Amino acid sequence: MSAREKLAIDGGTPVRDKSQKPWPVWPVYDAEEERALLGVLYSGNWWIVEGDQGRRFEQEFAAYHHARFGLACTSGTAALVIALRALGIGCGDEVIIPPYTFFATASAVLAVGATPIFVDIQPDTLNIDPLQIEAAITPRTRAIIPVHMAGRPADMDAIPAIAAKHHLAVIEDAAQAHGAEWRGARVGALGDFGTFSFQASKNLNSGEGGIVLTNNAERADAAWSVINVGRYRDGHLPGYQVLGGNFRLSEFQSCILRTQLGRLPEQTDRRSDNARYLYELLSNIPGILLPFDDPRITCNAYHLFTFRVDLDRLQGRTHSEFIAALNAEGIPASGGYSPLYREGIFTRLSHHDGHWCQAEFTPDYTAMHLPVCEQVCRDSVWLFQTLLLADRSDMEDIAAALIKILL
Ligand SMILES: *Cc1c(COP(=O)(O)O)cnc(C)c1O
Repeated sequence: MSAREKLAIDGGTPVRDKSQKPWPVWPVYDAEEERALLGVLYSGNWWIVEGDQGRRFEQEFAAYHHARFGLACTSGTAALVIALRALGIGCGDEVIIPPYTFFATASAVLAVGATPIFVDIQPDTLNIDPLQIEAAITPRTRAIIPVHMAGRPADMDAIPAIAAKHHLAVIEDAAQAHGAEWRGARVGALGDFGTFSFQASKNLNSGEGGIVLTNNAERADAAWSVINVGRYRDGHLPGYQVLGGNFRLSEFQSCILRTQLGRLPEQTDRRSDNARYLYELLSNIPGILLPFDDPRITCNAYHLFTFRVDLDRLQGRTHSEFIAALNAEGIPASGGYSPLYREGIFTRLSHHDGHWCQAEFTPDYTAMHLPVCEQVCRDSVWLFQTLLLADRSDMEDIAAALIKILL
């Protein structure tokens, strides 16, 4: 082997020069999106929601995800709040969630007045560990929110079985999992509700937006009411039946989503092919721990390509220095989340005099220690979905940069 090459972070030449070889631009769009937007602009309907584009997008996305009903809304965060409210979950109720997720999974639970109960994750999938869920169930537990982290479905055999046994609802947080499949069935319709985000970074994007999916007609009506200021869905009863908001998605966003949905299958295939190749390239690099590829996952949506590194092999560099070294080589990467229960809001809730909302009990989040989550936060690497839209040779650059830094 040749002498160690100087790393870009130490002044060496980067594996990839961003000005010579840029990564794919995101989002992907062309004149089709322009035509769709102009169609709404000139529609003559006051740009009013409840128009053709929104209804059609709801049907198309629900059908794509093998769900009977889709209710579009303003964001993935709103979608979680809507699902919780539609299930009547509120003060005094507990909701089981993983600690390794975007803040919204927890903040939505707090927003309805319920109490998030964190259950540790699996080290090789980054998803909630089904074997630890039952120990966290109390008489106050109402729901479990598995997050399909990075686009990799959580265990949708075990989790619904536990929920059924204890009469709990399941809300799939599928904000990162458009198109993902568990044993041939698309996620989002495997629980009582599935929620998605269309925020700019997500695999299906309208800048902002979200949707709630369900197979149950009554729950669909309940979600509709929460989205539409609490009104009765059939329209002939006046007034408001639940505490709702205005969570409606605009026609402009809906028309963009319809065209973007047309691009999603090809993009998902491309991410998946590149991810498979990258997995192969990285599988023999010492110090890289690749996730477990569960054969029950028939499609991983790859919102992120994640792996973990053996911290002992970082030649004295810290995790964040390792990420900086990878970025310097021209490979955009992130070190990922911190444990959610360490966020200031949970520390403050723990020190609150009295109780959160009407809850009989607020967990002491400051005493919480979920070892797998904490380990994963110390050693994970995330590569963004846009990198997986590049070519096979670009995957070789990612591997070359990692070999350069780790060997
Ligand atoms: C992005 C995201 C959300 C929130 O979606 P927004 O549209 O940004 O509100 C919720 N959960 C997870 C896991 C996410 O990644």
